[in-house]
Amino acid sequence: MRHVAIIGSGPAGYYTAEALQKLYGDEVQIDMIDRLPVPYGLIRSGVAPDHQSIKAVYRRYEKVALSANVRFVGNVCVGPDVTVAELAGLYDAVVLATGAPNDRPLGLPGSDLPGVVGSAAFVGWYNGHPDFAGLDPPLDVEAAAVIGNGNVALDVARILAKTRAEFAGSDIVGRALDALEASSIRTVHVLGRRGPHQIAMTPKELGELGHLEAAAPRVDLADFPPEADDSLLEPGMRKSVAHLRDFAHLPRDKAKTIDFDFFAMPVAVEGEGRVERLIVERTELTDDLRSVGTGERYSIPCGLVISCIGYQTPPIEGVPYEHGRGRFANQDGVIEAGPDGGLYCVGWARRGPTGTIGTNRPDGFEVAERIHSAFPPGASGGKTGGLGLDTLLHARGVEPVAFRDWQRIEAAETGRAREGSPREKFTSIAEMIAALGR
Ligand SMILES: Cc1cc2nc3c(=O)[nH]c(=O)nc-3n(C[C@H](O)[C@H](O)[C@H](O)COP(=O)(O)OP(=O)(O)OC[C@H]3O[C@@H](n4cnc5c(N)ncnc54)[C@H](O)[C@@H]3O)c2cc1C
Repeated sequence: MRHVAIIGSGPAGYYTAEALQKLYGDEVQIDMIDRLPVPYGLIRSGVAPDHQSIKAVYRRYEKVALSANVRFVGNVCVGPDVTVAELAGLYDAVVLATGAPNDRPLGLPGSDLPGVVGSAAFVGWYNGHPDFAGLDPPLDVEAAAVIGNGNVALDVARILAKTRAEFAGSDIVGRALDALEASSIRTVHVLGRRGPHQIAMTPKELGELGHLEAAAPRVDLADFPPEADDSLLEPGMRKSVAHLRDFAHLPRDKAKTIDFDFFAMPVAVEGEGRVERLIVERTELTDDLRSVGTGERYSIPCGLVISCIGYQTPPIEGVPYEHGRGRFANQDGVIEAGPDGGLYCVGWARRGPTGTIGTNRPDGFEVAERIHSAFPPGASGGKTGGLGLDTLLHARGVEPVAFRDWQRIEAAETGRAREGSPREKFTSIAEMIAALGR
């Protein structure tokens, strides 16, 4: 029997487990360790609460989780509770699937002012991640600036602009919903350093903005290249740009506006004790499509700045790390491998924060194949796997949460859901554990 520990129960962790099951059959025992008592990583705490059909992918992971040779070991943080070196002594292979949960810092003068928040924090707040339950973003302001031209920026802008009724059927956290309903934000600026042809926004997410109850998107057609140039784009981008162009013709009869500011490079955040304005420099594109400042500056009055400019994997002691790219140093998912065991990484911890949920699947399969060929089915040389982990955690007074426990937490969340919502999430680890009667 081979023993594999996967650290992180997000998509990358589950796809890796699924692939290992396919390759080894019953000849492998997999422990999936997560720092939270709840599984699924960003499916639970990143994917937008009003996109339930996307979140439903967790049903597929549930199948893997309920197999006899996969065990969820929740509420155990690798680092403080157990080290990677200790796990390497217990398992044939250790796979880091810890994602990239930290915001890349904005790094502008004034970006430490209250009212500047990263998207990991803001998204975590409305999605009930225990690290961000207490965020309390300032929504008592007229305008917000969302920095970034990807789908996360679109999620954030849409969530700021929706009415309470539009959250029907979502699992947005009740406290966040109340705060958003009471918000005085009327204008959401979405800023990108480059132009409409350089966005990283997908058509479905952009299209949604054109159908909001109380908000309308706004673009300036002067920012666009000639329409004929759209034919040079790949089909997805062409659709996205078509949506953007259509926004120019929407009636301006809604209370809120989502304003696309292209060729806009934030250079400073200013305010007395809190954010009051964002200073922006206009840019232009070089021949190789980089943005460069033109020297022309303007100011956007706003009381909230949300940066959606990417994420980083936090380093773990003893694991080689690539500081420039904010991820574990690895060669095709392999961090270190020898005859006694291997250390691997998958998903965002391997590649950095790019791609969709589905991108993590081939990634997990590839690493599972590497593990399988390095440690073929057979006796593991003295590794004790889960038994050893349990002994170690017990000695440290760490009480893990099993998958069946998580199902009880989930049932409790379902039981207290407001009408029309699938669940009301617990937003602290203490609440989750209390739901287990511990
Ligand atoms: C705001 C947002 C919205 C998104 N929306 C979509 C979408 O609509 N569609 C789409 O296809 N993709 C979307 N994505 C991308 C998708 O969520 C990612 O591709 C995917 O979640 C990455 O998977 P992962 O397993 O690498 O990381 P994660 O999902 O982040 O999982 C990492 C897991 O590791 C655990 N962990 C971290 N550190 C430790 C530790 N030290 N010890 C133990 N456990 C640890 C975490 O608790 C977490 O459960 C979105 C991403 C974001 C940020």
